Amino acid sequence: MNVVVCVKQIPDPADPGALDPESKTLKRDGKLILDESDSYGVEMALQLAGDSGEVTLVSMAPNGEVSGLRTALAMGAAKAVLVSDDALKGSDALTTAKVLAKAIERAGSYDLILAATESSDGYTGTVPEQIAEVLGLPSVTFAKAVTIDGTTVKVDRQTEAGYDEVTCPLPALVSVTAGVVEPRYPSFKGIMAAKSKPVDQVTVADLGLDAANVGWAGAGQEIIEVAQAEARQAGEVIEDDGEAFNRVVGFLSDLKII
Ligand SMILES: Cc1cc2nc3c(=O)[nH]c(=O)nc-3n(C[C@H](O)[C@H](O)[C@H](O)COP(=O)(O)OP(=O)(O)OC[C@H]3O[C@@H](n4cnc5c(N)ncnc54)[C@H](O)[C@@H]3O)c2cc1C
Repeated sequence: MNVVVCVKQIPDPADPGALDPESKTLKRDGKLILDESDSYGVEMALQLAGDSGEVTLVSMAPNGEVSGLRTALAMGAAKAVLVSDDALKGSDALTTAKVLAKAIERAGSYDLILAATESSDGYTGTVPEQIAEVLGLPSVTFAKAVTIDGTTVKVDRQTEAGYDEVTCPLPALVSVTAGVVEPRYPSFKGIMAAKSKPVDQVTVADLGLDAANVGWAGAGQEIIEVAQAEARQAGEVIEDDGEAFNRVVGFLSDLKII
């Protein structure tokens, strides 16, 4: 089983930097790291591919950034395709999906594509399904468990009330939630091995795309305004009079947590 994993490289959430005042996009000129959301997809892919298959990473990132890819290669992925090109600056989510779809085609034959349900920086949660549409593949979202049964993928798909069991023919694209599996830490041996694993760095032209259709030129979306998120409201304090657990249970039940 060959699995392709979409891996976004993002500014370190511990030091996320700033917005560009003109374009209102996140400045991404410093070092980027593997989005933690995607470490779940990488781990899931490694488990599904096993010893007989191969895991290939695809990423679109500025300045030839490979730090996040090296982390995923150190976890055990075999190789990567990185799309990096100044022409991509200003790309919206659909353009990102079109570019990643081309990179996936370049990566070779695959049975399954994995992505995270949403990234930690942009989190539109739309890129994976757009990739599937561009490639003409079925897609399943919000996977909390993924297994392969012959030529089909079986997914436990998280819902508000629990989960649905979904079966889908391969090849397919599945977006996974955090918690689908526990990502491994790269070993020292893995980190050393990752340094020499192949990263195929390509431009827009290498993928057969026209620079006039990507980046700011090709964006169908515009960022109108960026506003501060509302401050979190103070929580409710429940004094325990011996029956407080009933109110806590009622509160969690209203939220459908239990
Ligand atoms: C007009 C406009 C201009 C923009 N300009 C810029 C810009 O100049 N620079 C900039 O950084 N952002 C820019 N953005 C934001 C950018 O479009 C999104 O960050 C990007 O499309 C991915 O969306 P997301 O993070 O919401 O992905 P989501 O849909 O939340 O991501 C889900 C999953 O898809 C996969 N995925 C998403 N993006 C990538 C990727 N790049 N590589 C590999 N896998 C990926 C990952 O598995 C990820 O976890 C712009 C947005 C707009 C609307």
